[in-house]
Amino acid sequence: MSSEKQRIVVFGSIVQDLVSYTDRFPRPGESVRGNTFKSGSGGKGANQAVAAARLGANVAMIGMVGEDMFGDSNIKDLKENGVDTNCIGRTNKTHTATALITVNKEAENCIVVTLGANMEMSPKIAETNSSIIENSKIVMCQGEIDEKGNRKAFEIARKNGVTTFLNPAPGDANMDKSILDLVDVICTNENEAEFITGIPQNNVEDAEKAARAMVEMGPKYAIITLGSKGVLLASKGVENIDHIEVKKVEAIDTTGAGDCFCGSLAAHLIAGHSMSSSIRSAANIASLSVTRHGTQSSYWKIDEIRQKYP
Ligand code: ADP
Repeated sequence: MSSEKQRIVVFGSIVQDLVSYTDRFPRPGESVRGNTFKSGSGGKGANQAVAAARLGANVAMIGMVGEDMFGDSNIKDLKENGVDTNCIGRTNKTHTATALITVNKEAENCIVVTLGANMEMSPKIAETNSSIIENSKIVMCQGEIDEKGNRKAFEIARKNGVTTFLNPAPGDANMDKSILDLVDVICTNENEAEFITGIPQNNVEDAEKAARAMVEMGPKYAIITLGSKGVLLASKGVENIDHIEVKKVEAIDTTGAGDCFCGSLAAHLIAGHSMSSSIRSAANIASLSVTRHGTQSSYWKIDEIRQKYP
């Protein structure tokens, strides 16, 4: 098998996070003073690409940014993390996507995401990059770009025996669920599982029902992450739902934990591990990420993980 066939391709979003920490949210028409400010590279696609690459996986990203400074810095960060950025396009029609995040004293947040260049991730972009998709082993998509682009990327993958991995985040009740026919592995949190199945999520039993329902909708594997309660795995044709537990840790920032899980899971699958063993490893690695601030910046590198668990 060629080395390209061992590659993960992320067809997904790139977003500049701009975070202001303030005592309270402004009312309409009011300005309040922020205490601190942080900006960083983000977007679910880019986060998952970085999580997988930090574990040593061969990862290429297909994405779109604007011809602006956020486009420059997001590409630079991906490159520095070892992600192949040759298939990231730039547009002068719109800006790099931004997330304006305000966090108050109670650690609640208000977010305005403006998807800009991500919405140019059309079926045409998938077609233009079809050879990189065809020659990969896993293609990962999320819910932060034009869903028709995701569909085309998965159609190309399916025709070529490439594993398709969907993380339909953030949850969207209007999502076109027919894409699930093209999905091998679906990975959601409890909210997204509710959007997809319509089954209200209040406890682990509800999540088990949702996992079962999702494999009936097309995918071979349905995975639901339950924060500190671990992860559920439903597999097509298997009656039992696997509940993979995770050691609860004192979380200081859970932003991006789901992305860390997805990227780490793909990195383990591509290395040839079984689904349940890959989930166990990914859950442990995601639990490390919640002990650090930020999204991409909170993801542990392979050497750090080996030092902690020699
Ligand atoms: P999302 O961020 O998408 O809502 P989750 O909150 O389910 O996703 O978290 C994803 C993964 O991160 C979990 O499956 C788990 O492995 C890990 N995780 C999150 N919070 C904790 C915690 N407090 N203790 C241990 N692991 C955690």
